[in-house]
Amino acid sequence: MSMPPSALSNAPPKRLKNLFVPPPPDKCTRCNNRVYQMEKIGPVNEVIFHKQCFKCKECGQHLSLKTYFTNQTDFSDPEVYCSKHCPKVRHNALYFRFSV
Ligand SMILES: [Zn+2]
Ligand SMILES: [Zn+2]
Repeated sequence: MSMPPSALSNAPPKRLKNLFVPPPPDKCTRCNNRVYQMEKIGPVNEVIFHKQCFKCKECGQHLSLKTYFTNQTDFSDPEVYCSKHCPKVRHNALYFRFSV
């Protein structure tokens, strides 16, 4: 008895769900652990972070609500960045699709 190979290769990945379900509001976006009120930063981009997890995604520099930047080229990116590493919109970038 063996599995037919098509049973494995034809299964579509179940990803649709991720597009529509927002992350649970009490989980840290960076480490995915539960965040309690006293250690919470946010919501930022509709997600929350631990204070200790509120760091630049690229360099790990610690951020605050006054110093963080968000991804300006992809609004679905919930991550936070320092001023150096924040993805910024350039003048003639190919982001016109966002303005429709
Ligand atoms: Zn965390
Ligand atoms: Zn950085």
